[in-house]
Amino acid sequence: MDAVAQHLEAGYPNEACGALIGRAGDGTQPHQALEFRPMRNAVTDRPWDRYVLDPLEQLQVQKDAEARGLEIIGFVHSHPDHPPRPSQFDTERAWPFYSYVVAAVAQGKMAEVRAWRLDEGTKTFREEPLTID
Ligand SMILES: [Zn+2]
Repeated sequence: MDAVAQHLEAGYPNEACGALIGRAGDGTQPHQALEFRPMRNAVTDRPWDRYVLDPLEQLQVQKDAEARGLEIIGFVHSHPDHPPRPSQFDTERAWPFYSYVVAAVAQGKMAEVRAWRLDEGTKTFREEPLTID
């Protein structure tokens, strides 16, 4: 979480993002994130309230993870001076498998952090427990 805070705060007042690398849950077990990989926000026109991953960078992150027997299990992004709830934009671009961690960054400091998963049936986000070991 220190690495997450560092990257998201450095990106302020724009949205910053990255990938969670770890092991996937199996339905009874939640996803387990072992590390955070900072990524660049590829949005150029309005990066203060949107983020898009660079697909080539995402592919590289995925390859690096797989080479070590791990995988991308989720993504983190910041909401500068806004609550950590997924936006409509976030919802439309989400995939059901991944955990989406959204962190509010208030006045440049990481504040509330929450985790969400897209419900395949309703295409809406449901909050999931976020435990930091
Ligand atoms: Zn968002």
